[in-house]
Amino acid sequence: MGRIIDGKAVAARLREGLAARIAALPFRPGLRVVRVGEDPASGVYVRNKDRAAAAAGFDSATIQLPADCRESDLLMLVEDLNIDPAVDGILVQLPLPPQIRQDRVIAAIDPAKDVDGFHPVNAGRLATQQPGLVPCTPKGVMHLLREAGARLPGARAVVLGRSQIVGRPMAQLLLAADCTVTMAHSRTRDLPAECRRAEILVAAVGRPALVRGDWIGEGAIVIDVGINRGADGKLVGDVAFAEAAPRAAAITPVPGGVGPMTIACLLENTLEAALARRGLAGA
Ligand code: NDP
Repeated sequence: MGRIIDGKAVAARLREGLAARIAALPFRPGLRVVRVGEDPASGVYVRNKDRAAAAAGFDSATIQLPADCRESDLLMLVEDLNIDPAVDGILVQLPLPPQIRQDRVIAAIDPAKDVDGFHPVNAGRLATQQPGLVPCTPKGVMHLLREAGARLPGARAVVLGRSQIVGRPMAQLLLAADCTVTMAHSRTRDLPAECRRAEILVAAVGRPALVRGDWIGEGAIVIDVGINRGADGKLVGDVAFAEAAPRAAAITPVPGGVGPMTIACLLENTLEAALARRGLAGA
């Protein structure tokens, strides 16, 4: 049976470290989360963010806009937050209602405050190995891989999924860590064979238990990003955990694996943005 990577514990340690660094600063890093409408799934996430941010010493607030808000109103709010000196990080909760173009809103955020790391400038920096803000979920996965003792240079890494928010930046981070990276997706031929080659497998597809036990190479490290709701209402990952765990060297559970890391890395990004804006990077 592989070791179960406890994302809750790793995230708690990361948040404690951030809290200690913030306690030593003469200011509180400011985070603003903008929510349009009342999507219940993101409601829990937003509340958890607020709680974690406050506990770690951030000046954090959620700004709620009505579901029928116009794109121009949201863009004006983003502009206000861009120029507000008390705000270091801006996160617009996705998905947005259909009347609002997501790309327009993401592009309007000051890249220096883009703590989700979705702005094209930050995506470009990641792709060209320049310092910038990195998307939270893949950043969290890198923390977990290090925690699991993964030897990254030269390792064969397979990323399932190629979305802008998880798969693509995940592959970039693994490449930057000198892995040999394969990106697989819905058009990949023979997905099980691609997965079996992986020493590090990151699944981010959003299909419950797509990855079966016999897709896992003996001794692989398996990171399950998927969050899916099963027929019984319980959360399940993209990996069939009970089948995969005996073959893996280490594996993340769902829930309690990658999920808690995403919020911790959002806070880490907010602190990094706050320090960089004040010329204190590395403090
Ligand atoms: P998207 O739907 O944007 O992307 C899914 C990707 O998976 C696509 O690249 C798609 O391929 C690929 N895919 C879909 N079906 C298959 C299949 N049958 N075989 C192979 N590849 C397939 O999802 P996200 O990247 O936003 O999210 C992925 C999962 O991660 C979801 O479950 C989501 O809830 C979860 N998530 C979890 C987070 C966390 O904090 N733990 C944060 C963000 C997401 P193609 O490009 O060809 O369509």
